[in-house]
Amino acid sequence: MEKKFKPETLCVQAGWQPTKGEPRVLPIYQSTTFKYDTSEQMARLFDLEDSGYFYTRLQNPTNDAVAAKIAALEGGVGAMLTSSGQAANFYAIFNICQAGDHFVCASAIYGGTFNLFAVTMKKLGIEVTFVDVDADEEELNAAFRPNTKAMFGETISNPSCAVLDIEKFARVAHQNGVPLIIDNTFATPINCRPFEWGADIVTHSTTKYMDGHATAVGGVIVDSGNFDWEAHADKFPGLTTPDDSYHGLTYTKAFGKGAYMTKATAQLMRDLGSIQSPQNAFLLNLGLETLHLRMPQHCRNAQAVAEWLESNEKVAWVNYCGLKGNKYYDLAQKYLPNGSCGVIAFGLKGTREEAIKFMDNLKLACIVTHVADARTYVLHPASHTHRQLTDEQLREAGVAPDLIRLSVGIENVEDIIADLQQAMG
Ligand SMILES: *Cc1c(COP(=O)(O)O)cnc(C)c1O
Repeated sequence: MEKKFKPETLCVQAGWQPTKGEPRVLPIYQSTTFKYDTSEQMARLFDLEDSGYFYTRLQNPTNDAVAAKIAALEGGVGAMLTSSGQAANFYAIFNICQAGDHFVCASAIYGGTFNLFAVTMKKLGIEVTFVDVDADEEELNAAFRPNTKAMFGETISNPSCAVLDIEKFARVAHQNGVPLIIDNTFATPINCRPFEWGADIVTHSTTKYMDGHATAVGGVIVDSGNFDWEAHADKFPGLTTPDDSYHGLTYTKAFGKGAYMTKATAQLMRDLGSIQSPQNAFLLNLGLETLHLRMPQHCRNAQAVAEWLESNEKVAWVNYCGLKGNKYYDLAQKYLPNGSCGVIAFGLKGTREEAIKFMDNLKLACIVTHVADARTYVLHPASHTHRQLTDEQLREAGVAPDLIRLSVGIENVEDIIADLQQAMG
């Protein structure tokens, strides 16, 4: 069914396809293990000669149904749920990079991803070069080295709200023989499908809009199946040469377009864990069933709030790509014609103490680290999510010290604006 239906239908119906007498609603397969009749049946699974379930750390039917829904929404060939967005981004890179390798990353990214890439992956011997999201192709090309294996960026950056020129990044990545990996968390496949613009792999923190109700931390990796690993076989030996841990099986030869996802599941998930619990996958699926209804409301509300902030004399600046005159307005019109997301970055005139007082005065919008769910939230990244970063790293990540991140929910917009108004005093 996946190919012929539009996103709204996929949100509701894709993934779980019950047959006669099976539950209509996706069941939670709350089982770590699965039964077989013969030793031979089980052995074939361990050799990747048959597909089937044997242990929930590798695969679980509830997770797979939800992953299939997200793959359909993004237009990919396969997907894997992970325990968090952090795990998704780590696996997406680590599946094709090993010690001694390098990748290129847009500098305007989520603070947690910045730490993962710049600090933790460096300890594993994998180096990253950050490039400005707005850099031209020549500057982007200059960041590549012979050992570069991937390029990474966020469709809409958290929290700085920069919009990535996906086609430009894809062109540069492909000129250099590497895939483009896009974290599509803020846009969701309702507002942007990066594969349509040349991206090869998409990741999400499903914790955000996909779940949409702040109930379950999770992540997902989706593969377009479009990147030709064999054409750059020397760069990707993990996919194109025999894996000793599976009796010398070669992923590209055995699985074709499924090579990348199979390796991520059979090797990384087997060895590193980080599976999403089936309970959380069930909650994620409930969220996905209304994603197409919630995203337009987030966007309508955020547009109205951004326009109100822009016209308010106490506000120093507003960054929301739906505002005419915004630096990213044209890119947003191209990549996000139906709307971007509910997240707005802005700064207040006055001191940092006044900004903190404003946040403390809010009644409807509450201070939480979370973004991108049904409720309106506010956060000061420099003193919360990004407090590990130095001032220079903050600037590199596009996070001004006075930046307030407002995640506009799906409440009545007049109530949201009235709350902001009273908090400004
Ligand atoms: C939140 C977030 C992450 C990390 O996801 P978790 O689910 O919190 O691990 C990664 N990328 C983006 C853009 C995010 O907003």
